[in-house]
Amino acid sequence: MKFGYNETCLDHDTGPRHPEAADRLRAIREGLKKRHSVEYVDADPATEEMVAAVHDPAYVEEVKEFCASGGGNWDPDTVACEGTWDAALASAGLAQWAASAALDGNGGRDTPFSLGRPPGHHAVVDDAMGFCFFNNAAVAAQTALDEGTAERVAIFDWDVHHGNGTQDIFYERGDVLYASIHENGLYPGTGELDETGEGDGELTTFNVPLSAGGGDADYLYVVESGLGPVFDSFDPDLLVVSAGFDAHRYDPISRMRVSTEGYALLTDAVRTLADDNDAALAFVLEGGYGLDTLSEGVATVHETFDGRRPIDPEEEPDEETIELVDDLLDSYGLDSA
Ligand code: ZN
Repeated sequence: MKFGYNETCLDHDTGPRHPEAADRLRAIREGLKKRHSVEYVDADPATEEMVAAVHDPAYVEEVKEFCASGGGNWDPDTVACEGTWDAALASAGLAQWAASAALDGNGGRDTPFSLGRPPGHHAVVDDAMGFCFFNNAAVAAQTALDEGTAERVAIFDWDVHHGNGTQDIFYERGDVLYASIHENGLYPGTGELDETGEGDGELTTFNVPLSAGGGDADYLYVVESGLGPVFDSFDPDLLVVSAGFDAHRYDPISRMRVSTEGYALLTDAVRTLADDNDAALAFVLEGGYGLDTLSEGVATVHETFDGRRPIDPEEEPDEETIELVDDLLDSYGLDSA
């Protein structure tokens, strides 16, 4: 894969005991050292204007001033320092690069994956939260739409948390589909089945809150049988994956049971979704807080594009997952695949 990476993202210092630390990127880089055909690409930071295309300009200004004055706790979870401003713009810029590289034809072994931090999917229109300041995936999607390189963008969020920020930004928009699989009841508590979009965005938000304990077979079932028909009917030009690795069974902050191999299966399924729709495919890093599981997860996505075939899960999806997907497709007026 081509990995977007910029040292500036290390300057977002969250303090000594914060799970969203610069060591996450160092661990990913270390893990990728052992793999073949890893390529790193730098990208220009996003401009304030590009960020303000999805965020309230007054909020963007507020973040800038907060960082310039030394930062501190934005909220109990979300911490900034002086370097956070440049890191956040760099992180959004890497996501923009990933989307634009994908739309330029980088696929297969050259599929782009942006390794930025702070992460983005909890950042709402006018507020930072959940370790996120600017919504990187949303900035990337909006830039592609504004530049006319895509007319319809789908964002699939497999991070264990619901990407309330991405949903918020595009909730009333018909040109961006947001789909999320997340652990039911986990932070921030949004992402119910009946949150399906409003106005022009009606039925362009697709939430699958899985019960704690969901594993590879459940995730795979949702992607193949649930997202498949939804994507086919939406027909995106670009698919951005909000790729968090905190649904891993050994991640310290969730109770899901996705295995490292599960991320290979998910990658393969997502690639099929993109291929079936002739959509460009880009990955944007979100969460993942076990350094080993995070670096193995990213490396597994890379290996899958590098030609390694994933091993099918031994388990079957839970009956509850199958019913959930059936109910959802029903409310979208679609048949299961
Ligand atoms: Zn997460």
